[in-house]
Amino acid sequence: MTLCEFCVLQETDGRCGRGRPTPKKMKCVDFAPGVERFCATPTDYAGREQLKQMALFFGLAGKELKRVLAMGEALRGGHSSADVLPTAGRRSQTPLT
Ligand code: SF4
Repeated sequence: MTLCEFCVLQETDGRCGRGRPTPKKMKCVDFAPGVERFCATPTDYAGREQLKQMALFFGLAGKELKRVLAMGEALRGGHSSADVLPTAGRRSQTPLT
C-alpha cells in the first residue's frame, strides 16, 4: 500500500499528477486525500472515526494524517456526502508533460 493510493492526484495509470515519484514512506507534501480512496463507494463511509482508524492502520501520521482528518471534518460539517464525495472517474486526465 502506497500513500498515492489514497491521493486524488494519482492518475488512472498510477502516475502522480504532479510528476512526483511514489514516496517510499507515507509522506508527501502534495498529498491530497480523497474519501473515495478510503471507501470504494460513498455509502461505505461511516464517519470521521472510520477514516482515522483506516489512516492509522495504513501508517499515515503527521501532516498526512491531519489532512485525512480535515477531510473527515469537511464531510461532517455542513456538507452532505453528495457535496463532498467525489464521483467515480474524477481523476485528472491531463497527461504529464
Ligand atoms: S501528490 Fe504525492 S501522494 Fe499524491 S499521487 Fe503524487 S506522489 Fe503520490
